[in-house]
Amino acid sequence: MKYVSTRDNSKEYSFEDVFIKGLADDGGLYVPVSLKKYSAEELLEFKNLNYNELSTEIINQFSLDFISKEELSSLIKKSYSTFREKEVVKISNVGELKLLELFHGPTLAFKDIAMQFIGNLYEYYLSKNDKKINIVVATSGDTGAAAIDAIKGKSNLNIFVLHPNNRISSVQRKIMTTVEEKNVFNIAIDGNFDDCQNIVKQMFSDLEYSKSINMSGVNSINWARIIAQTVYYFYSYFKLDKKTVSFSVPTGNFGDVFAGYLAKKMGLQIDKLIVATNENDILHRAISKGDYVSKEVRETISPSMDIQLASNFERLIYYINNSDSPKTANAMKKIKQNTYQIDKPSLEIIQKDFLSESCNEQETLDIIKKIYEENNIILDPHTAVGVGAANKLSFNDCVILSTAHPCKFPDATNNAINKHEKLPDELQYVLDKDENFQVLNNNTEEVKNFVKSKV
Ligand SMILES: *Cc1c(COP(=O)(O)O)cnc(C)c1O
Repeated sequence: MKYVSTRDNSKEYSFEDVFIKGLADDGGLYVPVSLKKYSAEELLEFKNLNYNELSTEIINQFSLDFISKEELSSLIKKSYSTFREKEVVKISNVGELKLLELFHGPTLAFKDIAMQFIGNLYEYYLSKNDKKINIVVATSGDTGAAAIDAIKGKSNLNIFVLHPNNRISSVQRKIMTTVEEKNVFNIAIDGNFDDCQNIVKQMFSDLEYSKSINMSGVNSINWARIIAQTVYYFYSYFKLDKKTVSFSVPTGNFGDVFAGYLAKKMGLQIDKLIVATNENDILHRAISKGDYVSKEVRETISPSMDIQLASNFERLIYYINNSDSPKTANAMKKIKQNTYQIDKPSLEIIQKDFLSESCNEQETLDIIKKIYEENNIILDPHTAVGVGAANKLSFNDCVILSTAHPCKFPDATNNAINKHEKLPDELQYVLDKDENFQVLNNNTEEVKNFVKSKV
């Protein structure tokens, strides 16, 4: 399968370019030239596959020129052998709700599902290429932990993780900063998540710098992550055995919900995808009324969604513009100037597939309380936003993506119900272990120098 950049689709790239570089040199995101669309008969054949088999079938469509199907299959098996659920994900019934639990990986958030896979994909690539790669990634809390767990101890790989200082939960931070492997570097930036993401983007766009250190990215724009995430949409669809399924997706960078859109484009019978945001509601404003003007980022109790500019939204803009890359590049310019509005015809197309809602802090706490009182289940605040959005839209017949284990956000649940979930035994150690991280200013040069001094 060949790929192009959303901002200039005259040039083709291989899966290797897409996976290792993450971002195209022109600043655009990679998308496949064409997508495999499964027929109803082909989909029927997937119905009885287990999670690993299904992953192999779907991912193989995208990575065939990079890794053979046999090698992919064993790589996937290895990736998910670290999960506490044998079938990787689990659908649970909570009262009337269906939760798709995605947090049974080593760092307790859905990001493990894609990240364990791509950690092994790097290892596979480096077994065939004599190189050293430096991964640099910004995190709003969960990406960093998942990436570190996936990369720690692997040879010829370093990982540098930028998190916003004092703006992530202490459990999130400790899972990252108590790792001892020598190839892991934690950096706390005096700024918010968008600042961290900007620094990483600037490092990448300084081509001389990024090439000099073989810099690679694992943030949610990495196509390899997106395709690993499409799998659980397929898997849960087959488990539910209904004609069509809708999903409510707690959303920050638009990666997870974009994976659902991709599954729909590949032929899966998805009705609506609900984009559920916290008070950082730019995507809700965009999808409900076309208003894509970013505001100051607010700190919330669902920090992994404290994002204004959702990187993966560019992919949707590209598809809505019928794969017109100059038009997409132009939209991205407007987004940069913070003057982008979605026109009415485009908005109508978007609303065929997407609904949106946002929950403020009190609404999120109220959901946690209500679900606990009715079902004796503690939801993490991100999942609660997904439930709240579906409730507000009176869209009850949908699957809520449960993106994190509640024990990762004890302050939020204490606040709502005066209770918190304990960490699983195998992670208890992070609570008392010494942490190791470097605090740096919100300054790209400073970060560049730090990284360079360590590679
Ligand atoms: C990252 C994250 C999200 C948001 O996912 P995106 O792909 O960025 O939209 C939601 N919930 C949790 C717990 C997360 O870690």
